[in-house]
Amino acid sequence: MARQRSQGTSRAARARTGRPGPPPLPRYERVMVVTAHPDDAEFGAAGTVARFVRQGAEVTYVIVTNGNKGSSDRAMTPERLAGIRESEQREAARTLGVARVEFLGYDDGEVEDTRALRLDVARQLRKWRPDLVITQNPHRTYNLYASHRDHRITAGVVLDCVYPLARDHLAFPELMPEYEPHKVREVYLMQWERPHLVVDITETMALKLAALACHRSQFDDFAAVEARVRERSAALGKAHGLTYAEAFDRIQLPR
Ligand SMILES: [Zn+2]
Repeated sequence: MARQRSQGTSRAARARTGRPGPPPLPRYERVMVVTAHPDDAEFGAAGTVARFVRQGAEVTYVIVTNGNKGSSDRAMTPERLAGIRESEQREAARTLGVARVEFLGYDDGEVEDTRALRLDVARQLRKWRPDLVITQNPHRTYNLYASHRDHRITAGVVLDCVYPLARDHLAFPELMPEYEPHKVREVYLMQWERPHLVVDITETMALKLAALACHRSQFDDFAAVEARVRERSAALGKAHGLTYAEAFDRIQLPR
């Protein structure tokens, strides 16, 4: 599917470079990215996040697990790994200009669709009141890394919290009066197969890679990771005439 027609062409970018720049993204005051693990946001959406930050959006990250299983080092403990991954994620967020990172502290690999998690996610939505929420793909695909069970469950819970749990005052009465109901306007789901929305990240690719490189505990060979990320982003962009892209399904909620 073609990119959003409403995006138009950036005259400023064209004047600067002599080439058409990326079409502007829709404007949002507040954006929230909810992912299962430290590094998921960088893999799936960092180029887009950097563009929203450049457009003046305030971006909040919510990370559901502490990533305490993501190591092949036999001497590593879950406690030590959780601390390392939290500081790597904070550094990546700073690199992108993300305003804050909230960690929900669930165990890596054990995310379940529970009332406790729905309450925690609904609280974050009501607290930071994003116009746009970016999350993972709730569906099983045969891309096993992308459709990790923590990703699918996190994305499903986020959608349930966008509607109806963060929106309705009678859902989670214990959140009131501190956390008033909140209506999200739009959701982007990270998606590579026939996505609704392809975002040009050519100008923010370097920032995406710099943020991704902060997750040092996850990469023995960052050059190989960088090559894979460039290859996938280029493949996503190709059909749309873009050098690098990230892709999403887009859900707009009627007012
Ligand atoms: Zn993950």
